[in-house]
Amino acid sequence: MNPLHRPVRMHIASVGVSKFCFLFSLAFCGLLLLLIPALQPPARQVDLPQPRPHTRPTQVGLSHHSQVLAVSVHAEKTDSATRLNGNSVGQEGSIQTEIIRNDKKEMDAKGSPERGALPGGKGGALSGSNSHDPLELKDIFIAVKTTRKYHKSRLELLIQTWVSQAKEQTYMFTDGEDRELQMRTGANIINTNCSAAHTRQALCCKMSVEYDKFIESQKKWFCHVDDDNYVILPSLLWVLSSYHHSQDVYLGRPSLDHPIEAAERVKSDGSVSVKFWFATGGAGFCISRGLALKMSPWASLGNFISTAEKIRLPDDCTIGYIIEALLEVSLTHTRLFHSHLENLQKLPADSILKQVTLSYGGFENRRNVVSIVGGFSLAEDPTRFKTVHCLLYPDTDWCPKPKPRHKN
Ligand code: UDP
Ligand code: MN
Repeated sequence: MNPLHRPVRMHIASVGVSKFCFLFSLAFCGLLLLLIPALQPPARQVDLPQPRPHTRPTQVGLSHHSQVLAVSVHAEKTDSATRLNGNSVGQEGSIQTEIIRNDKKEMDAKGSPERGALPGGKGGALSGSNSHDPLELKDIFIAVKTTRKYHKSRLELLIQTWVSQAKEQTYMFTDGEDRELQMRTGANIINTNCSAAHTRQALCCKMSVEYDKFIESQKKWFCHVDDDNYVILPSLLWVLSSYHHSQDVYLGRPSLDHPIEAAERVKSDGSVSVKFWFATGGAGFCISRGLALKMSPWASLGNFISTAEKIRLPDDCTIGYIIEALLEVSLTHTRLFHSHLENLQKLPADSILKQVTLSYGGFENRRNVVSIVGGFSLAEDPTRFKTVHCLLYPDTDWCPKPKPRHKN
């Protein structure tokens, strides 16, 4: 080999090596760039609370609940919604517009809400890992909105039925003294001193007192119902125990198949509008303590009334506004809560005891009550609440006892 050629060859060889290094580092960088997204933790797809797995039924008679806890929007007409919007869905128009968002996959796969899964679509069996912190009835604060003129016709029935099973934690928020009822029943009746009128201000005044009493109570869950609701306590406990009270949970049934729109007068001057879902008060709704505490700037100590005044909406809409529009927490839609603005006859008889709330209405023209057969006739129990109660708690002293069978 010509020695003169050697450095030239070496030079060529070193150029080759650095070219290779350059290309190799380019390829390595490219690979790294490709890998970066894959190495990132997966983004949360929904901001709804993720239910916890259930451990076991906390009360007797709960095993049937595993079948019915799928939830979806079932729109119906509500008076507050109708007043607001007029564009609600009629009683017969049950529209499954949106399946609860963190439940969607399972629901789609099975095509039916009757399946062995828990609310939120997690789990499916009565096994889990929350045995260290089981939710108990005493952890739930239940607020019943009422008014003096309904003490006899509505409240007494509730006190006789479901409230008797949750006496310590159920509070009735009214607008007039009734010492006699209080003494006779021992119920927690709170005179809010709010006006007895059925106006936005009066209703918001009551909600404001309900909220403050809940915060004071230190309980884990706030549930609000009207005085024409029956609360099926084992179902309520079952549904709530799939979440944690420190999660942001707002659970209820929307009255419309779309969010409502309101002028934003809290965060801005009202020139822009906000869209949000709200749970209709007539079907009842629940809020976790964690979320309720975050509502405080707009809900505590009379602030609820001024918030409602600013947006000029009824109490249940104002709750939705604070949670969805101001705190940006989504309503968890459920079909287990019922107001009398839907057709209650349509609830399948074998699913009635699995619901969380029931209602009644429409005595004037068309009776709207659940179709349930039991110890009382329609004349004896026009609301069907006594019948439901005796099916749930057959040992109650005033429930008809099954007739003894005669042996021949
Ligand atoms: N209510 C009230 N003040 C009134 C009228 C009604 O606090 O002047 C309460 C009533 O006790 C119930 C809720 O508001 O808990 C809804 O009332 P109702 O069922 O009569 O009407 P709806 O809106 O369901 O048609
Ligand atoms: Mn009502």
